Amino acid sequence: MSYIYLDNAATTQVSESAAKVMLHYAREEFYNPSAGYAPALEVRKQIKRSANEIAGILGASGEEIIFTSCATESNNHAFSCGIKNKKGNVIVSSMEHASVYECAMRLKSKGIDVRFVNPDSSGHILPEDIAALADSNTAFVSIIHCSNETGTINDIQEIVKAVKKKSPSAIFHCDGVQAFCKIPTDVKKLGIDMYSVSAHKVGGMKGTGALYVRKGLNLPAFIAGGGQQESRRAGTENVCGIMSFAIAATEYRNAASNFNAHELRDIFIQKFAGDEKVKINGSGTDSGYVISISFLGLRGEIIAHGMEDKGILVGLGSACSTHIRSNRVLGSMGVSKEFAEGSIRISFSPHNNTAEAITAADALKEITDELRVRMSR
Ligand code: PLP
Repeated sequence: MSYIYLDNAATTQVSESAAKVMLHYAREEFYNPSAGYAPALEVRKQIKRSANEIAGILGASGEEIIFTSCATESNNHAFSCGIKNKKGNVIVSSMEHASVYECAMRLKSKGIDVRFVNPDSSGHILPEDIAALADSNTAFVSIIHCSNETGTINDIQEIVKAVKKKSPSAIFHCDGVQAFCKIPTDVKKLGIDMYSVSAHKVGGMKGTGALYVRKGLNLPAFIAGGGQQESRRAGTENVCGIMSFAIAATEYRNAASNFNAHELRDIFIQKFAGDEKVKINGSGTDSGYVISISFLGLRGEIIAHGMEDKGILVGLGSACSTHIRSNRVLGSMGVSKEFAEGSIRISFSPHNNTAEAITAADALKEITDELRVRMSR
């Protein structure tokens, strides 16, 4: 069965050219990049080229990129290595992805002073709220760039300024997974120290990520071993993943620059405009790639199953945490339990089109109207 796929924040289809490159490095240039012979040195050179390509999208340089096994690893890397001597307090938001939030909870359980900042009702972290929590002992801050739940974009540049004013030596990490290739990003302009990205959200393979680490920020290695990647992250590089990541990211970034995600998002907004039992979560600055819709008194999983029966795949929230009933992020924005339980997440890629969005919005209206009629009987 062919589906209308609207769960691109969970994962994307591997692009054709990325798949081709992946196969090439699996079958032809399969050499270990740490070996000393010429074909292996060529692979090593190509890995550097990929690092330059990924870095270029972020306004960084190739030496500032560490390839990882996924963004979850990048985030764990940032937390484990970024908190020097385990001294000082840590600030994270409650709208973080689980791979950041759980790192913070782990630090808290070890007795570290972890301070949580909530987003406002529009789904944004306010610089003044961060400033109120930070002090001269703030050692590490992690704030998501673009929400995987609502698509809202945080003003990282202003947030960084607010933190550094209080604690100039604080290390600032940003989870950029849902922003990467979608929102033009210059890590130097943002003033951050670390930035996490993932390949499978932009047409690359699952199991490949990267962490930007600002030059001069000398962190200990997260994984010890054979000294690969200048001893910053040991382990034989995932050559197929890395090579296809660079191709996919460049392609995605180019496609994104000609894609109006807001046009598709607006189709859903207009479909439910004026219905007081429907809530669009997150407003103001957003990527357009994600829309979180809540239906009062309905259940997200039943709506999603109804959509699937009509050949449309949507998400329930973060794919990694669909088993968690109450939605932490929506709750932290002040969305009531009655609305939050009836939430679905629709997320686009540049491969989606207006016709798909219209079909999906019509289907969503039909399903939720039917469910309401059934409930009122
Ligand atoms: N951070 C955000 C914002 C995400 O959306 C995700 C995946 O959903 C991750 C981190 C984890 O990425 P990965 O699947 O590469 O570990």
